[in-house]
Amino acid sequence: MSGDSAEGGCLCGAIRYRVTGDPVAATLCHCGSCRRASGGTNVAWAVFDKSQFEWLSAGPKAYSSSPGIDWLSCPICGSLVGYRRASRPDHMDITTSTLDDPDRYPPTVEIWLEQKIGWETLHPDLPNRQQSSLNDAQA
Ligand SMILES: [Zn+2]
Ligand SMILES: [Zn+2]
Repeated sequence: MSGDSAEGGCLCGAIRYRVTGDPVAATLCHCGSCRRASGGTNVAWAVFDKSQFEWLSAGPKAYSSSPGIDWLSCPICGSLVGYRRASRPDHMDITTSTLDDPDRYPPTVEIWLEQKIGWETLHPDLPNRQQSSLNDAQA
């Protein structure tokens, strides 16, 4: 499985990308920044090493919400496809929902419960954390 590649892209198809192998992390994030950036109640992220990732199209538009933090989206349709932070320069975070086969990359932990919307339910089988599972603070 680790040599397999998978593709994904935005709503309009202008942004396409490919990942190879297994993600180094797969999270379901409830933080307020992810919710606002996506418009969703949470965002599932698949975190890949930069060597496992490539754009197949022109690159996305980057919005820097604070120094060293970039939200990557399609300049045409606005889909949030990725996230980069300077403190994790070797990682490319991809929104799991923009993968063509998101079922292949299920989240393994729910994070940022302290910012979760009150009416949103949690996955019964996943561990969860009040903040991030990665070793740095989220935006
Ligand atoms: Zn698009
Ligand atoms: Zn988040």
